[in-house]
Amino acid sequence: MSSITSPPVVRDDTTANLSQIGQAHAILIDPATSRLLGSITYDREHGFNLEWDSKEAFKDWLDNEQTAQSIELRPSKIERGSALYTTNQIFRCARNGTGGLKLYQKKTTREWKIESKRIAGSCPSLVQIKTYPHTSVVLGKYISNHSHAIGMENLKFIRMRDSTCEMIARMVRYGKNDKDIVSDPSSDNN
Ligand SMILES: [Zn+2]
Repeated sequence: MSSITSPPVVRDDTTANLSQIGQAHAILIDPATSRLLGSITYDREHGFNLEWDSKEAFKDWLDNEQTAQSIELRPSKIERGSALYTTNQIFRCARNGTGGLKLYQKKTTREWKIESKRIAGSCPSLVQIKTYPHTSVVLGKYISNHSHAIGMENLKFIRMRDSTCEMIARMVRYGKNDKDIVSDPSSDNN
């Protein structure tokens, strides 16, 4: 009958080729010069029209923007990247109707509840930033439209930061009563 022999070793050329192509591809990808989807060059040509020298510079800009507009843009999600980019992160307006929310409890007359922070619908405002493996440059795109009032009317909905407190102090110094800045009916009881 049939003798037991080792089956012939069949080299799977398809797999081998794909593997070789994959290795070659990985070596050829240079994030500094690639124009592939997700690369810094592609992003610059596809809507990422803001640019900072570093993550620190971006954070300074974000702080300033939040203070200037009386808005809160909080980290929403972050995606880890590939050979072409390191992270892809989104900051959304805190009044957008999704995501978790900590309710502030009033403790003193200088603090207030932020219980109705989230609006019924969604707010389109967001900042998207990307970082890359070969440079400290951060690219970003910014949707600055809100579906609700910003500025003074939005102050009571944002988390107070030191910079915001300073801004309010400046407004008060320029003659605005703090009741005009932040309406807090419950403070009448104190
Ligand atoms: Zn908003």
